[in-house]
Amino acid sequence: MTIAAARQPLVFIVSGPSGSGKSTLVAKMLEVPGTMLSISSTTRPPRATESPGKWYDFISEEEFDRRASQGEFLEYARVFGKHWYGTPRRSLEEARCKGLDLVLEIDVQGAEQVKKELPNAVAIFILPPARDELERRLRARGQDSEDAIKRRLDRAGQEIQRYTEYDFLVVNDDVERAGREVQAITVAARCLRSCLSERARKILESFGG
Ligand code: 5GP
Repeated sequence: MTIAAARQPLVFIVSGPSGSGKSTLVAKMLEVPGTMLSISSTTRPPRATESPGKWYDFISEEEFDRRASQGEFLEYARVFGKHWYGTPRRSLEEARCKGLDLVLEIDVQGAEQVKKELPNAVAIFILPPARDELERRLRARGQDSEDAIKRRLDRAGQEIQRYTEYDFLVVNDDVERAGREVQAITVAARCLRSCLSERARKILESFGG
């Protein structure tokens, strides 16, 4: 049995304003062996570049309501006051069965719910280097109208106020360095005393601890 398989999955929460580059950093975390991504369910329609089942399970509002009322989500929230997003509980089950750690890329409302249910979840907040730079990145994506950019910037301000609810802050001014930081957090969290592995528990027991 691998060391990872001998303990409960660690749950990593990654949040940050849109344009902070969190998806790129999540991809860096997934390069660390022993991790897997939780595929969220959403009522948002897929973008042209998105294939179903890779980052999202795209479902109707009716189906989302049904799953929410059956308690199938670990957390769920309406993001940008528009579409619904939720983390299926079965992601956690899958991680447990496979002996992998689970990475959730979710917003601040979802992070709060997960932390309540799983207090040992490790929460990472991705900060853009500066407000001006975030604005520049949002414009460069060419994805949003002026109004939408303004809304995203306002929302970024509100989300960033909640940084105190996170265990780690990573500034994404240099994607290589920020990538190394999230990978280091992923590896180091496995040694947290609160995430004691079966192996460590046995060693401690053999010493009478
Ligand atoms: P997008 O539609 O641009 O992919 O994502 C919009 C926002 O929804 C992002 O902040 C993303 O982190 C958040 N999000 C994605 N999946 C989930 C989820 O399962 N739960 C919650 N609460 N937020 C999510």
